[in-house]
Amino acid sequence: MTAENQTGKSSEYQIKTPNQTDDKSMSNADFEPLLKLLRVHPALDGLHLDEQRWHLLDRFCGILSAYNEKVNLVANTTPEVLVNRHILDGLTVASNIYKSKMTSGKLIDIGSGGGLPAMVIAIACPDLAVTMVDSVGKKVKFLNDASQELGLVNNRALTGRAEELAREKGERASYDLATARAVGTLTLTLELCLPFLKRNGLYMAQKTGSRLEQELKDAKAMMRELECRVEQTKVFTDMPGVEDSVILLIRKIDDTPHYYPRPWAKIKASK
Ligand code: SAM
Repeated sequence: MTAENQTGKSSEYQIKTPNQTDDKSMSNADFEPLLKLLRVHPALDGLHLDEQRWHLLDRFCGILSAYNEKVNLVANTTPEVLVNRHILDGLTVASNIYKSKMTSGKLIDIGSGGGLPAMVIAIACPDLAVTMVDSVGKKVKFLNDASQELGLVNNRALTGRAEELAREKGERASYDLATARAVGTLTLTLELCLPFLKRNGLYMAQKTGSRLEQELKDAKAMMRELECRVEQTKVFTDMPGVEDSVILLIRKIDDTPHYYPRPWAKIKASK
């Protein structure tokens, strides 16, 4: 398992800031008006970020969009999709972190990829210590490069597999919050996330509303095994961009049995 931090690393890919480029995909002008609209989005009721946070989100969009031309991080980085879907999605989690009064403490994001939702959360919740985990080194390199470029000091990125990292001392049962967007079924992400949480910690599971009933049914046995329960279900009906999104707040009630998470081969065989 390799731990990497964002300080003092030379970049293989030069991140260009928007004013250094003629590439339209990196122009702040593309993201700014869309981000302005998010400030009053109904799904973000109760989230009040200062100007500096919005500016960092704007710059993150430019960095992700530029980097994505070299490394495939996100399928579609048009300003509309990036802001109205991906950034909004991350901010709905941040909003729930504020509502749960958990803005300090430690969060782990499994399968961070292009930093969604982890980079958005790290920007929106500067008092939260955010750990980003991905098994693909070049994605972790992006996360480190982007964090350095933005001057973030409350996050770090680790290269590794969640099911292995969760067995390491200092990582297991060490976090207050966990997220894992688009990494797999609820059954899978429960197994990857719950071992990292302290007792009473929360896994904020971002799910697709239309598949929720089936996912919950499939995950019932795993939830029992892992000693956790759904405490709240946040739905965003009729809210543009997140109308089929749901956030489940899953509370860890008791310690995770020591045999979880299982080795990847066993997890895969049980799917
Ligand atoms: N969360 C990001 C998003 O919403 O755009 C990325 C989602 S991408 C579909 C899934 C990511 O999870 C990939 O970057 C992959 O490398 C990572 N991943 C999958 N299984 C993993 C595991 N067991 N441990 C760590 N990372 C994993």
